[in-house]
Parts: sequence; structure tokens; C-alpha cells
Amino acid sequence: MLRMDHWINGAPVPPESGEYLDVHEPATGARYAHVAAGDTRDVERAVQAASHAFPAWAATGVSERGRMLERLADLIDQRLDDLAAAESMDSGKPVSLAREVDIPRSASNLRYFAHAVQHAAGEFFDFDGGGVPGGARAMNMVLRSPRGVAGCISPWNLPLYLLTWKIAPALATGNTVVAKPSEVTPRTASMLAELSAQAGLPAGVLNIVHGDARAGSAIVTHERVPTITFTGSTAVGRWIGAQAGGMLKRVSLELGGKNPFIIMDDADVEAAIKVAARAAFRNQGQICLCGSRLLVHERVLDRVRAGIVKAAETLAVGDPSLADTQFGSLVSEPHRAKVSRMVESARSLGGRILTGGGPVDPARLPPRCRGGSFYEPTVVEGLDPTCEFEQEEVFGPVVSLRSFRDDDEALRLANGTKYGLAATVFTRDLSRAQHFARSLAAGIVWVNCWMVRDLRTPFGGARHSGVGREGGSEALRFFTEPKNVCIAG
Ligand code: NAD
Repeated sequence: MLRMDHWINGAPVPPESGEYLDVHEPATGARYAHVAAGDTRDVERAVQAASHAFPAWAATGVSERGRMLERLADLIDQRLDDLAAAESMDSGKPVSLAREVDIPRSASNLRYFAHAVQHAAGEFFDFDGGGVPGGARAMNMVLRSPRGVAGCISPWNLPLYLLTWKIAPALATGNTVVAKPSEVTPRTASMLAELSAQAGLPAGVLNIVHGDARAGSAIVTHERVPTITFTGSTAVGRWIGAQAGGMLKRVSLELGGKNPFIIMDDADVEAAIKVAARAAFRNQGQICLCGSRLLVHERVLDRVRAGIVKAAETLAVGDPSLADTQFGSLVSEPHRAKVSRMVESARSLGGRILTGGGPVDPARLPPRCRGGSFYEPTVVEGLDPTCEFEQEEVFGPVVSLRSFRDDDEALRLANGTKYGLAATVFTRDLSRAQHFARSLAAGIVWVNCWMVRDLRTPFGGARHSGVGREGGSEALRFFTEPKNVCIAG
């Protein structure tokens, strides 16, 4: 059976405790690997290696750091098939999705930040003395230096995609990294560690500690890790925020969402339905940006209802390792149980299940997948917007449908949760689009599209969806310490 150890100081390292966690293939339910169960001792070793490597890495020129990250991106491209197959096996996502999105985007993350750091403009302020008679003139320039060891903690839904989204800017700006991928999907992080050595990253620059909350919390609370970037659930994010606050660490939290997807009566309804189906069911609904609340103008409700139900019922559900599968398995059995519980609560609150509403019938699956964690694409209608199901993240292939009468009601519903990650509006009316873009409580508003991601833009959530922004210059700022130098004259 495959065994995955930590990657510390440029080599595989078994856990000090000797303990390993089971790793399952969710599409079959079979255990196929063991992964190191890291604890404070492993984290200590990784932080030591990263601290030791930091001065030389910080002193390496940006072009040389960029070249190494580009080499790593090239190696990811070369291993596209293997990495996509591993990601699919580990997470249950269709291999086509991993090939088209997860793995190419991981390479893009590295390539983008390798370049961005070389082209980033500095800040300069020519000071005229503040208008005070005799006030001193001066020139101010802002120097930015790496902060040290960055702790990068990522979830299971987009494993390599989100891991590289964090480590690329951290490394490009000259920090060294102790990363912890999700214990549920550790495979591609292990593969990345090996590729990093081939790309020429010096030992200790990128360290991967595997394991669960024990390893994660040891990184968060380590006194020599001043920067923490976390993507995951709001509950864990809240805990990390409290720890980081107490220790005066810099922290970025990318958390959950309950994202509205609004279809106006003037929209291109057919296009909107197509995109809404993708937003609801892509990656089995396990994307933080998924549009899980479909808000539809009452004049087009019947068309949208019929369209989304048809889209759910015609998705090619099956073995994620097959090229033509569009919809695979949820990530684990405990996660399927959670999704199931939430759908049952919706049913008990009077929600009408228009399609789906339960595990996929094993008879519809190939024999190899009959023990897998498949759940049907599900559409629910008729729930009170204040009920738990409409307020809390399900993080599964489940979308609720609700009509509205006018723009004010649409906005009230859209903004009526504690979250504020992403929102989508379909309309042909530009001024309506602008009004919604201004009024929606969200870190990202998509108009007539969904999940179009330009890596230069700020990414993150408002309210309980997070603290801080990643992406583009936000990430370069996050991972560096500014120092203003004021020169008189
Ligand atoms: P999770 O919070 O359970 O775990 C995320 C990571 O944190 C894992 O690596 C886990 O081992 C680690 N962890 C758990 N407890 C910890 C602790 N006490 N200290 C430090 N680390 C700890 O989340 P998950 O179930 O893996 O992922 C799903 C969640 O992630 C969803 O809520 C989803 O919305 C969110 N998510 C958000 C974004 C975003 O960009 N906003 C992107 C993807 C996923």
C-alpha cells in the first residue's frame, strides 16, 4: 500500500510518532494509502528546516526564484496525466475536471506569481513638506521584504490548486513554507514535494507536513511562523483567527460561502441555466464558490425550474476515472452523511425535492464504484430563507430554488446570510448589473458568468467568508513586510 511521508528539508521524513492515517478512494470506498499523521514534533522539524533555509532563499534574486517556480510549473504540465489521475482518485472528482481545471491551474498559480513578483511596481511618495512653512521635504520609498516562514493550510476540495495558490506567492516573495494539505486528499501535495526537488528548490524552502488538525494547529501556534494562510471551513477559520490574533500573527482566512446565483427576467435564460447548473454541481458542488441558492425572477421561474432539473438529471454520473464522467463521488463517507443530513432536514422543513435527494443508486454505477460516496445532484424548492439549510453551507451537489418579485427582494434574499464570498447575477440590463454589483455583500460578483478567475484580481470573502484577500498584488503584499524609508531633501 502506498505510504506518504512528510517532506522536510528536501527529503521524505516519517512521522516522529510512527502513526499514519488511512487514505481512501472515495469513488470505491477502498483504502489505498497511508499518510503521515503529523504532530508538534514534525512541525518543529519542518519549521527548523524552513527557518534555516530562509536567509539564503530571501537573498536569492527574484528572477532566480521565479525561474525555479516556472520550472516547477513546467514539471506539473509534464506530469498532467499522473497528477490528474491522482487528484481524481484522492477526491472523487471527474478526471476530466482535474485535467482541465485543477492541474493546469496549479501550474498557472506558480507561473503567475513567478512573473508577478518580477513585475511588481514599488511605492514611492515625493513629500512636499505637508504645506507647513519650512516643512521638511523628503522622498519616501517602500521596501518590502519576506516575513519568514509562512504556514499554508489548505482543504480537500481543490487540493493542488489551492495549495499552489498559497505556496506560489509565499515562495515567490522570498518566504519559506511549511504547508499542510488536507489529510483527506494528500496525494498531489506529496507528488509536488518530489517535483519541487527536481525543479531545484533548495532543501528546506518548501516543507510539507501531513496530518489532521493536530499538525495544522501546531503550525498555527508555532511562534516562529509569523504568517498563516488558511483556506477551509468558517469554524476552523474562526479558531485560527483567534489564535493568530493572540500571537499577533498576520493571517488570511478564506472560508465558506452560501452564494446566491440570481437570474433576472431580462437575462439570457438558457445561458443562465447552463451556467447555474455548472455553478451548482461542478466538483459535486464542493467548491466554495458554488452557487447554492438559485434566486429567480418569478416571470422566468418555470423555465429555470425545468432547466435546472433537466441539467441535474442529464449529468453523466459515474466512475470519476473515466474520461466522459461529468459528476463523480463526494470526497468521503462522513461528508456524504453530512450532505444527506442537511437534505433530510430540508425535507422535514417542507422543502420539495424536485430531483435527487439521496445517494446514487449503486445499480447505476459500475461495479467498482458501488461502495463509493456518490450523492445525486439535487434541487430543493419551497424552503424558508431563514432556515438552517438556506443559511448554512452544505458543500454538496444541492441547490435551492426560490423566486423573487423585484430587485429589492432579490438583494434582500441574496444578502440574507452571514456569508459574503461570491455572488452571480444574470441580466442584460447594464445599470441593473451595476446596481447589484454595488449592493451585493460579496468578495466577488460575477455578471453573466461564474468562476471566471483572473489571477491578478483580489480573491476572498466578506463577512463570515473570510478575512483578507489573496491573489495578484494582494498576495504579494500579504507575504511581505513593508518598510518605509524616508530620505530628507
Ligand atoms: P476544514 O476547515 O475542515 O479543513 C481545512 C484544513 O484545515 C485541512 O487541511 C485541515 O486538516 C486543517 N485543519 C482542521 N482543523 C484545524 C485546526 N484546528 N488548525 C489548523 N488546521 C486545521 O475544511 P475542509 O472540510 O477541508 O474544506 C471545506 C471548507 O473549505 C468549506 O467550508 C469550503 O467553503 C472552504 N473553502 C473555502 C475556499 C475559499 O477560498 N474561501 C476555498 C475552498 C474551500
